[in-house]
Amino acid sequence: MYCKNCGAEIADGSAFCTECGAPVQQEPIQQEPIQQEPVQQEPVQPQYVQAEPQYTPVQPAADLNSTPILITGILALALCWTGIGGLICAIICMNKVKQFQAAGGVISGKAKVGKILGTLGLVFSILYMVFWVIYFIVVIVAAIGGALNNASSLIDF
Ligand SMILES: [Zn+2]
Repeated sequence: MYCKNCGAEIADGSAFCTECGAPVQQEPIQQEPIQQEPVQQEPVQPQYVQAEPQYTPVQPAADLNSTPILITGILALALCWTGIGGLICAIICMNKVKQFQAAGGVISGKAKVGKILGTLGLVFSILYMVFWVIYFIVVIVAAIGGALNNASSLIDF
């Protein structure tokens, strides 16, 4: 380094110039302010994980079997004259149709025939139930009427 006063060469780190005695001003080490790059805090984007509804239709083999529809349909129509018997079979038949369709079954062939028979069975079962109710009322009324007639005829004698 050189003296700022006289320009003489002096040893590094000397406090005073060896030639003129002027105090050597140590150049202050320029503290470069470390430019702190502001860390751009990326706003945390909420990760929208598209929850695709996993549509895995459970297809038990039994549900895709159209035979129960046909059987219950036939039974519904065959037992419609009993009223309640046909009605129960028809309701089972309709449930089987629902399960069949829920499982992805297409109503055709056996299933279609079974559904039609089941529907007819349902209608006829309801009609027969009404019929039987009326029938029993008539029979009971007739029986009571007959009993009353007998009673009155007995009194007449
Ligand atoms: Zn000097």
